[in-house]
Amino acid sequence: MRLIVTGGCGFIGSNFIRYVLNTYRDVEVVNVDNLSYGSNLNNLKDLEDDKRYRFVRGSINDPNLMSGLVKDADAVVNFAAESHVDRSIADPWTFFRSNTEGILVILEAMRRSGGDVRLVQVGTDESYGDILQGSFKEEDRLKPSSPYAASKASADLFCLAYHRTYGLNVCITRCTNNFGPYQFPEKLIPKTIIRAMLNLKIPIYGSGKNVRDWIYVLDHCEALDMVLRNGKKGEVYNVSSGNELSNLQVVDRILKLMGKPRGLIEFVEDRPGHDVRYSLDSSKIRSELGWRPRHSFMEALKNTVEWYTSNEWWWKSLASEQVLHPTPWKLKW
Ligand code: NAD
Repeated sequence: MRLIVTGGCGFIGSNFIRYVLNTYRDVEVVNVDNLSYGSNLNNLKDLEDDKRYRFVRGSINDPNLMSGLVKDADAVVNFAAESHVDRSIADPWTFFRSNTEGILVILEAMRRSGGDVRLVQVGTDESYGDILQGSFKEEDRLKPSSPYAASKASADLFCLAYHRTYGLNVCITRCTNNFGPYQFPEKLIPKTIIRAMLNLKIPIYGSGKNVRDWIYVLDHCEALDMVLRNGKKGEVYNVSSGNELSNLQVVDRILKLMGKPRGLIEFVEDRPGHDVRYSLDSSKIRSELGWRPRHSFMEALKNTVEWYTSNEWWWKSLASEQVLHPTPWKLKW
C-alpha cells in the first residue's frame, strides 16, 4: 500500500507512521508536513534509514504538491492540522487555513486524480461540542464551541459533501483526547508531567471539573488502521476508550504516579468557551470493524510518565516558558 500521511511529524501522525511500518512489510509511507511549531523531526528519527519511509517538507495547502502525490497513492490519512484549542482562540485564521482549506485541497487533488484513492480524515470529538449526560453517536449534529473545533467540523462536512457529490472514497474518524509519547508539551498530560518534574505549579483551568475521555495514542492508531483498511466509504466512526476523567482527576493521578505533592496544583482563570464534558459512543467501530482499546488508562499513563521522565532530550528544547504558560489563550501567538 502506498500511503500518504499528512502531519506525520506531529504527535499522533508520528505514532501512526511507526505503527504501520512496524505492523506491515508491504507499506510505503510519504509523510507530508510543513513543520509547524508543534512538529518535530525527532519524532521519527528512528525511521530515517527505513527505505519504505520518505519525508516531504510541504503544506497540504499546496495544490501542486498534493496533486502530484495523490496520483501515485492508494490512500491518504490526514492528520495535518493546527491542534491546540487555546491557540485557536488567539489566532483562528491559521486554524481555518490548515484544518479547513487544507482538506479542500486534498479533496480536490483526489477528485482530479480520477482514481479511487481512499482518504481517512482524522477528526475529533470536539466537533460535536460538549454533552452533560449520555454520549454522542456519529449521526448527532455538530455543534463546535472553539475555532479549532469549528475548523475540524467544517473539514468533516467537506469530506461528506465530496463523498456524496463526487463519490470520493472518504472515511471520517472522530476520536477523544489522546495521550502518549511524542505529544507536544503544551497539552495537559505532557505539560503536567514536565512541570511536575521541574517542581513548577500545575495550572488547572477553572474548577478542574471539565471531563475528557482519554485514549492511549496506540489504540487510536490501531482504530485508524482498521478504518483505513475496512471502513465503509462515506462513513463516520467514533473512537473512544471509555476513560472519562476530570482534568483534576488526571492531574491528581499523574502527581501520585510521580510521587509529587498535590500542593503543586494551582487553579487558574478558565479559558473562554471551555467545553464541560466530551463523551462518544464508539459501539459502531467496535461492532462493525472489531476494534477495541488494548491499553488500560493507568498502565498507559504510567508508561507515558516514564517516557517523558526518561526522554528529557526530546522535550527539553520544546518546553519554553511560553509553551508551558498557565493560560496560553491569553498570549499573542
Ligand atoms: P500535532 O499538532 O501534534 O500535529 C499536527 C501536525 O500537522 C504537525 O506536525 C504540523 O506541523 C502539521 N501541519 C499543520 N498544518 C499543516 C499543513 N498545512 N500542511 C502540512 N502539515 C501541517 O497534532 P496531533 O495531536 O498529532 O493531532 C493530529 C490530528 O488528530 C489533528 O488533525 C487533530 O485534529 C486530530 N485529533 C487529535 C486529538 C488529540 O487528542 N491530540 C484527538 C482527536 C483528533
